[in-house]
Amino acid sequence: MKKGFIILLLLLPFLSRSQTQRFVSPIEGSYGHDWKIINYVDWAADTFFKDNHCLSKSYDGHQGTDFCIRNFRKMDSGVNVYAADAGRVIFVRDGLFDRNKVSVVSRGLGNYVGIRQSGKLFTYYGHLRKNSIVVQVGDSVSAGQKLGQVGSSGNSSDPHLHFELWYDSSYYIDPFTGPCGNSHSYWLNEPSFDSSFGVWTSGMCPYSTSLDTLREEPLRRDSFYLWAPAISYWAELTGIRKEDSISIEWYTPSHTLWGSFGRRENRDWWLYYFWSELSPSVSMPEGTWQVRLIRNGNLVLQRSFFYFQSQAAIAQSEIHKWAAVHNGRQLCLKGLEPGDQWYLQDVWGKLLYQGIAEGSPVQCIESLLSNGIYFIQVRSRSGARSIEKIYW
Ligand SMILES: [Zn+2]
Repeated sequence: MKKGFIILLLLLPFLSRSQTQRFVSPIEGSYGHDWKIINYVDWAADTFFKDNHCLSKSYDGHQGTDFCIRNFRKMDSGVNVYAADAGRVIFVRDGLFDRNKVSVVSRGLGNYVGIRQSGKLFTYYGHLRKNSIVVQVGDSVSAGQKLGQVGSSGNSSDPHLHFELWYDSSYYIDPFTGPCGNSHSYWLNEPSFDSSFGVWTSGMCPYSTSLDTLREEPLRRDSFYLWAPAISYWAELTGIRKEDSISIEWYTPSHTLWGSFGRRENRDWWLYYFWSELSPSVSMPEGTWQVRLIRNGNLVLQRSFFYFQSQAAIAQSEIHKWAAVHNGRQLCLKGLEPGDQWYLQDVWGKLLYQGIAEGSPVQCIESLLSNGIYFIQVRSRSGARSIEKIYW
């Protein structure tokens, strides 16, 4: 494996610039916005690891480059993978599960495409989305031709394209340049090395989050009711360095610190989720709150949200266990069973809102209603029906 680099260094001077510097982007979208490079080829000769810029954007034994997209919601929108160069398809594997969130080395590249190019070069496109591959073995492809879509099949914890370049079957090549790597690029327009700190995306949601739910990107909210299971703030960050301190601070409507959560990192993290939550309580004052993301003492992001607990109209079913509340901005239903159907009608019977209860204990929708009388109807899966009046 390591011998390969030595051979590579001897060979490179004999390859002309025009022969090799020709790869187009293997992934759809713009660099830094739609996708980022999180891991490069590992250039360390021992069990440690380093990227071509002598930093840690790699891991031990990594033979390719990981082009990451934001999350699974982005993956579901369909992000194309393209041939970096013209060639002939020599390998295709598709049909494997594509929503892995845990690394399992034995799963390998998952769904992938292999292409043989001129000059004994081979490129591989790994972890593709299930049933997304649109080429077959034997196909001739041109540079930039669609091969499939980004997924998380194989040994993958987040949706990304693993791109790998080989010379013959002898050794793999880092197609990027850097002071600790190659001096010769394989790209027509090489994306510049980026180790800067950044917030890729962030938001708030009315329930407790975990790494898994954040990877799916929760739907965003900016108003929260007392019944919300939690008030969560989350951010997907890049370029967290060892010794960085990151914290989230919560401020009341009168600008006093209500609570904070923070930590100091003991290693670099190139893709990182950070989150904090409040438990809504009657002791929390109503009004416009603020949540702040702080890095090394500096304000990175600030977000306002509305918290309310009174001035709400409540309908409580006496037969069944559900209840509904409306505060003029939000309609929340509590105690529904998954699969229960609910309807909000005005006094003339006109249907204004409807929904089907999911797993969460409280379900809220944004709803603007003028003052008046409304009816909430719930039909359970068993067919039982209850109707309650709500006065707002
Ligand atoms: Zn990889």
